[in-house]
Amino acid sequence: MLKSFFEIVKEDIKSRARLGLLNIGNYEVETPAFVPLGSQTDLKDAVGSELKFWGAKMIAVDSFQLFVRPGDQMISKAGGLGPYLGFRGPVLSDAGRFRPGAGMLAFKFFETGIFFQASGADALRLFTPEQSIQTQINLGADIITTLACPEQSGGKIEARKAADFTFSWAERAKRMFEKIKPTACTAPKIFGAVAASDILENIITDAAKLRELDFDGYSFTFSPDPIKTLADLEEEKPRHLCDAAMPELIVRSIAAGIDTFDSNLPVELAQTGRLFVNMKPDGYGILDVRNKKYAQDPVPPDNTCNCYLCLHHNLSELHRLILQSDIAAKRLSVIHNFRFYFNFLEKVRRAIKYESFDDLLASYRQTET
Ligand SMILES: [Zn+2]
Repeated sequence: MLKSFFEIVKEDIKSRARLGLLNIGNYEVETPAFVPLGSQTDLKDAVGSELKFWGAKMIAVDSFQLFVRPGDQMISKAGGLGPYLGFRGPVLSDAGRFRPGAGMLAFKFFETGIFFQASGADALRLFTPEQSIQTQINLGADIITTLACPEQSGGKIEARKAADFTFSWAERAKRMFEKIKPTACTAPKIFGAVAASDILENIITDAAKLRELDFDGYSFTFSPDPIKTLADLEEEKPRHLCDAAMPELIVRSIAAGIDTFDSNLPVELAQTGRLFVNMKPDGYGILDVRNKKYAQDPVPPDNTCNCYLCLHHNLSELHRLILQSDIAAKRLSVIHNFRFYFNFLEKVRRAIKYESFDDLLASYRQTET
């Protein structure tokens, strides 16, 4: 029997959290799941081909970043994202985050699409919702996402404009998807993106409008109230949260019914010598390895962690290497922070399974290291 794309295995009694299973090709991904950003630009000194070994069941990519460099056609020739990144497993692709930096000078947003200027180029180029879908199909992603207009400064009017662009782009993206889906080398699913906004009313209205377009799932970036945001969406469809950041926000989002997350925080913090560590009885801390108090500390960063760094190195050695900007130390720190997130999500899934998620939700927070 053909398995459905998303199965809800168990629902929490006291919150909207659920245990689920994403069936993608021959792969099963248990949810709630942390989905790391897996392109080299996101991973910095770490290596994407090792992500599976570190515990990733699915990865995410910024398809716009790959469209600009090295180009979707090049990745298509390499056999798609899996072979290109060396990752054996499903890939969720995001339409793009559109922030200046990382080779991008400027973005301008119009109803037609997004004009962008890459560093070293004089002219502005246009990127449309249709091009975004074509790019993600060329990349061979398993889950693709419609283009969303990033949050604009300038108050309510600008926020409404961004939301209107995002919805009109979602309609155009869905039409394009239906037209070119048969040409895809995978059997992709499409998620409708909701524009990020501080204005809850906008997010709720947009999610309800997207529902009418019948997407396979939804992608959110931020909501001031995740419970109200997700309340009217179909239970049976998966929800992804981009840039989920700190663990306590992830637990709160899971309680609202979010199923998958991406975040580059584990990499960003590891790059500057900051490690997530488990704290007793239930919570976490962030250890700044650069602090001189660790110069003479011979213990592993986290006694409860089973990553390579914690099994084979101590804080004193790591402190010295991080201060020397040693690439191997940064790489091991990224691996450790990923392992922390994978173990943390495992803990969350176990709590939902054994009906103790409400305890975790009440107690899980950051404490002093
Ligand atoms: Zn570790």
